[in-house]
Amino acid sequence: MHARQTRLTARTLAQQFLFEGERPELIDWLLPHCQLRQFPSGRVLLTPKQPADCVYLILQGEAEVRVGRHSGQLIATLGPGQCVGEMSVIEGVPPSAKVIARGACTAIAIEGAALRTLLDQSQVFARNLLKLLARRLRHDNQLVRQSLELQALSEQHARSDALTDLHNRRWLNETLPDLIEQHRDAQRPLCLLMLDIDHFKRYNDSAGHIAGDQALIAVANVLEAQIRDDDQAVRYGGEEFLIVLPDTRLEDAHPISERLRHSVQQTAITDPAGDALPSVTLSIGLAEWSAFEAPEQLIARADAALYRAKHQGRNRVVVSPAPAPGPARLRRVKDA
Ligand code: GH3
Ligand code: MG
Ligand code: MG
Repeated sequence: MHARQTRLTARTLAQQFLFEGERPELIDWLLPHCQLRQFPSGRVLLTPKQPADCVYLILQGEAEVRVGRHSGQLIATLGPGQCVGEMSVIEGVPPSAKVIARGACTAIAIEGAALRTLLDQSQVFARNLLKLLARRLRHDNQLVRQSLELQALSEQHARSDALTDLHNRRWLNETLPDLIEQHRDAQRPLCLLMLDIDHFKRYNDSAGHIAGDQALIAVANVLEAQIRDDDQAVRYGGEEFLIVLPDTRLEDAHPISERLRHSVQQTAITDPAGDALPSVTLSIGLAEWSAFEAPEQLIARADAALYRAKHQGRNRVVVSPAPAPGPARLRRVKDA
């Protein structure tokens, strides 16, 4: 670290990365175009509101680089030896970020015009500056990558259920129409199951809400474990689940539904301490997608079948009859 300076010397200037290997006469020429500046904490060195008129080389303390309104997000912290404002000076446009002193900060301010002259006069300086910009670009690329990863993660979170980690309703709304479209184009079968835990209000009331959550997680785990990789399990609402079985006919989906129902019934549920909780049963409504049926109609049919399963005594699978051909369907069939 440098001792606290009050006057800038050619020696200090020559020690900076930007002037490594530079001829002493150029350093001497530059000296009168440089100034030592002290910034109190929070003082703005550079702002996107106006082009930088000088480049700052940090000597002591730190400066924060922030983007976004109200000095929003911190993207870098600059320490001694680092430089800021050079891109704005070279291009003559405002900086893309705000630079603010973090604590007391001392920097060498190099006049923009002098920096541009140096660029014309000195290959050594130009090469040093290029290295510095390359370093910055690498850092920025890393930031972009991190930000893309975060974005992907948050998109994934927005489409999955926090308790069970299954897909959520938003995922279903975005995906089911496309899935059905693909099956329609290729004339492939597809089945959809609506599943609802029986008497779950009673379960919560007697075992407690936390036990209820454990039961939901256990059911989700069983469903996820029992279906194929291409099948999709969704937490549709509170204690309701939905499963999409692509490329599956009703005659195959029915035994699958029975197997799921049976597995859930057989599953031992425990609380986080490992103590046994009551098990649960499922009622299931099953519907096979019928040519030209809209996603919401398919869901409504599976839901109606589920409703019948409840009325017939719960813990059972009810199959939806194929829908009567509507006008849209008749027209398409006639066209074919
Ligand atoms: P049915 O057999 O007719 O489906 O009866 P039910 O009691 O399961 O249905 P009802 O719709 O009356 O109650 C659903 C219950 O599910 C009430 C609600 O407290 C519970 N529930 C919904 N979401 C959650 C959750 O995230 N955690 C817990 N623990 N319970 C939930
Ligand atoms: Mg229920
Ligand atoms: Mg329900």
